[in-house]
Amino acid sequence: MPDPIVAAPAAPTLAVRGDARRFPVHRIYCVGRNFAEHAREMGSEIDRGTPVFFMKPADAVLAGGGEQPFPSATSDLHHEVELVVALGRDAEGEVTADQAMALVLGYALGLDLTRRDLQAKAKTKGLPWDTAKGFDRSAPISEVIPAAQFGALAAQRLMLSVNGSVRQQAPLSDMVWSVPEIIAELSRLYELRAGDLIFMGTPAGVAALQPGDRYHAAIDELLHLDGSFTSR
Ligand code: MN
Repeated sequence: MPDPIVAAPAAPTLAVRGDARRFPVHRIYCVGRNFAEHAREMGSEIDRGTPVFFMKPADAVLAGGGEQPFPSATSDLHHEVELVVALGRDAEGEVTADQAMALVLGYALGLDLTRRDLQAKAKTKGLPWDTAKGFDRSAPISEVIPAAQFGALAAQRLMLSVNGSVRQQAPLSDMVWSVPEIIAELSRLYELRAGDLIFMGTPAGVAALQPGDRYHAAIDELLHLDGSFTSR
């Protein structure tokens, strides 16, 4: 193979529990408005007919969380704690909800960090959300745990606390669109691949983070993610 004209960037990867191999991140799909209470706090109602999708670049991943610089260009950085689905197989074209779970390798816990001020401005003008959602280190993500160890998705609870105070808490059963339904919808729009991640949307309680804040996120005793923001 001829030499690359500039150094090839390292592919972002996540740790996999109980496995020395890592999960290589291909794309990051995100679902908007998948918990009714959060849609309401953002001033919308859920429309069952049309899941809202957006993307983050794969290298927005911050594997394992930890300390990160406070993002630039915002004075309203919001946390959104979310279940993350990790795909372990390519979809052969469109899949039905019945076929979708065969693509799932496992689950992780992530933060969909959001520059809410830029998103609000984009929404008013009918403009895209990229600068609000797809910035550097906007996706701190835990290790991946294999689906078999996670168990059936049901009553496990998503939780996020900031500086020791609980901000977001809800059972996964509150999701409006289920994991197989979302995978089926995405497969109509994109060629789904092993290595894809899907952020499943956040419950109510989103709020602003400040430089110096520390967060702790969990799904029951199954998954944990800890991190903090340095001063600018
Ligand atoms: Mn989100």
